[in-house]
Amino acid sequence: MNWLTNIAVFLLIAIGILVIRNFIGKYYFLILEKEEIEEDMDQQESALDLRGTPTHVCVCGSQHFYVRAIFQDYEIATYFLDMICAECGSLATAPTPLDREEMDQ
Ligand SMILES: [Zn+2]
Repeated sequence: MNWLTNIAVFLLIAIGILVIRNFIGKYYFLILEKEEIEEDMDQQESALDLRGTPTHVCVCGSQHFYVRAIFQDYEIATYFLDMICAECGSLATAPTPLDREEMDQ
């Protein structure tokens, strides 16, 4: 009976190792500090939706935005109008050359 228990334990350990190896081979692990995640959550809670009027400056005073862009020949070929303030996370509308023409009229 003792040898049967030993074989069962050995098989369970071998299956466990195979499952863990398969899991590690299939997924990436991302380890983040709790403080970083909590800062991002605080930033998102204070973020505003300012979309509608094209702007160069966020209400927090920042001029840095995250913009989704497409590149061609080493230059920005086009960009999406929705952008996110890099400081406070507020949503805003990116300015375009057409907006400048409307302001000049
Ligand atoms: Zn901002």
